[in-house]
Amino acid sequence: MNRCVACKNQGLEDAIVEERFKVAGVAFAAEVPATRCTQCGETYLDCETMARLDRSVTSAFANHGVLNAESFRRLRRATRLTPTELASILDVRPDVVEAWESGKEPIDRKTAALLAIMVLDRFDGRTTALDRLRAGMNPAPWPDVTRILRQVVGFDAVEHSEDDESGPRPVCPTEREVEERVA
Ligand SMILES: [Zn+2]
Repeated sequence: MNRCVACKNQGLEDAIVEERFKVAGVAFAAEVPATRCTQCGETYLDCETMARLDRSVTSAFANHGVLNAESFRRLRRATRLTPTELASILDVRPDVVEAWESGKEPIDRKTAALLAIMVLDRFDGRTTALDRLRAGMNPAPWPDVTRILRQVVGFDAVEHSEDDESGPRPVCPTEREVEERVA
């Protein structure tokens, strides 16, 4: 951009500005880099800053815990799931998701938590919660044998550490002790 859209002035400068806005009835404030018109004071944010703000707002809703209809819809969109797909994964009818997103029904607390976890997973580059929910929809049959420890790195070193005197070795609790602890 080389001139102000509001007043056509060509004097623009880099600035740090405080943006204040409301989303889903919640007030947010953020200090962001912007371009400011030296004449009328209008400020402009670039696409990258807008995207970062948008993601931060979504994170804030995911972390806060309690959702209203609008923020629920925002989180659902952040998972890239359609209302129908989300309903299928959560094992509810599609009109239930529609009722949550339109504010007709209060949002189930456990659902809100799961949705938030899926969003935070996505922002961290994972799909752990989504994968677990999908696995529950179509559980894969167990093979004859499920091999779990393919290679135990450093196993030999632990086995032979009795010779050195580097400190006490960890003692494994017996099965009974474990059972007593969790009882
Ligand atoms: Zn201007």
